[in-house]
Amino acid sequence: MADVIGPNSYLPGRRLKPLLGVMCDEHPTVLSVTRVVGETDSYGSEINDLCQECVDLMDEQIKETSSGNCDWCKNHSPELVKHRDYEEGSTGPVYDVCAACISKENDCIAENYASDLNQDSSSDLDDDQDNEILDFDDSDIRQDDD
Ligand SMILES: [Zn+2]
Ligand SMILES: [Zn+2]
Repeated sequence: MADVIGPNSYLPGRRLKPLLGVMCDEHPTVLSVTRVVGETDSYGSEINDLCQECVDLMDEQIKETSSGNCDWCKNHSPELVKHRDYEEGSTGPVYDVCAACISKENDCIAENYASDLNQDSSSDLDDDQDNEILDFDDSDIRQDDD
């Protein structure tokens, strides 16, 4: 029986263990072989119980719908991936995103990480400059040895 679960980190198409003795959503006389995560948003996911025939059908549909316009750059891509924005967390909304946008996002994460490191090291440099003021020339003191 189809089900709805609360916020989760599943992506649509994710296969879960079937429940024992549960019938297919489409075929009330056929036992389901798997549970598949369907429509997913930040509120939760629809879970579908499917028999082998329905799973095969779904696989065909996934192949057909994997091309389209990217939700982020709006460009048409032959291969869209179900993807979450890392800034919105692992239970945030799911987007259809092209490979270019995903690699751009990965670069962004790497840059943010690198700039954090730079900020730490620049504060260390300020400390060093303060120390240099204490390294004064001691030639004035030696004149008293006369
Ligand atoms: Zn079925
Ligand atoms: Zn894109």
